[in-house]
Amino acid sequence: MQPEMKPGASLLELQSVSKTYAAVPAVQDVSLTLHSGETLALLGPSGCGKSTLLRLIAGLERPDAGRVCMAGQDVTLSPPERRNLSMVFQDYALFPHLNMGDNVAYGPRMRGVNRQAARATALKALARVGLAGLEGRRIHELSGGQQQRVALARALAPGPSLLLLDEPLSNLDEQLRTSLRRDLSRLFAETRAGVLLVTHDQREALSLAGRVALMRAGKVVQTGETGEVFRRPVSAWAAAFLGERNLFVQPGGVLMVPERAIVLGKGEAWTVLERVPSEDGMRVRLAHPLGPLSVTLSPREAALLTGPGLQAEINMAECLTLPDDRDV
Ligand code: ADP
Repeated sequence: MQPEMKPGASLLELQSVSKTYAAVPAVQDVSLTLHSGETLALLGPSGCGKSTLLRLIAGLERPDAGRVCMAGQDVTLSPPERRNLSMVFQDYALFPHLNMGDNVAYGPRMRGVNRQAARATALKALARVGLAGLEGRRIHELSGGQQQRVALARALAPGPSLLLLDEPLSNLDEQLRTSLRRDLSRLFAETRAGVLLVTHDQREALSLAGRVALMRAGKVVQTGETGEVFRRPVSAWAAAFLGERNLFVQPGGVLMVPERAIVLGKGEAWTVLERVPSEDGMRVRLAHPLGPLSVTLSPREAALLTGPGLQAEINMAECLTLPDDRDV
């Protein structure tokens, strides 16, 4: 029996959750909420506590302090199977002795669904992840990408209200990652479940999540709508982690010059220090008085760059001054 959802309650609410291993404070005083249909990325560098937080939510670990609530009920001490959630592990954790179909039917079977209905559910879940007709395949016959899809289908089959994913694309090569990212994005949009995914990859968060919780050393340092977090990082550390290249130490803080603040073809011509072809055109570094200024040129702009210099102006209204917390 799943607990009833209280009206107006969020799907998931963490209240000041902490967890320490030996002397390592892996998660410190984290509070977060997630609503149905929302996709939240826990984003941060390796070792910052993302997986620990995910395991605390799943019920695979117990916090030392704080509460985990789902649908308004305190589940802090409830085992994983009482939480109406599914988890996709980084290494997929499929059952090697079962075929694809049986792997996916396992969850519904454990919940008491009869064999025939569980099989029907499994076939539907496999179709949703693009694996229709392959249910008889053995796990060892599958590619990494297919295994990840089976793991997803297995997580979706019981119809959980919360889907947890630990670095869902990290074990795949670049090409597979791109196609699976697209599929995940579609699946997340289709599902009514809340989705919480752990990633250290900014692009993954940007392409998959509506909201981001940025973590550093066990703490959530910023939460917000994904675009907003990337546009307005709270500090120099956050900006650098999110991929901002133009950060200049000044009196009173760090000046962040985002790409959108750099106006080409206006102002003075700055010497081009370096040209590096990139996937979206060409990245150049200019000898700007602020410091080396990194600018990405479209293929058309790059084609026009023939001389030793490039005209560029900074629109200060688009820049931010941030506290410098990079060595904290
Ligand atoms: P992330 O997922 O962001 O890489 P983790 O949650 O795995 O981070 O780890 C956070 C910190 O907790 C790290 O310092 C890690 O070494 C430590 N840690 C995680 N799990 C354990 C454990 N079972 N025992 C001891 N230390 C752990």
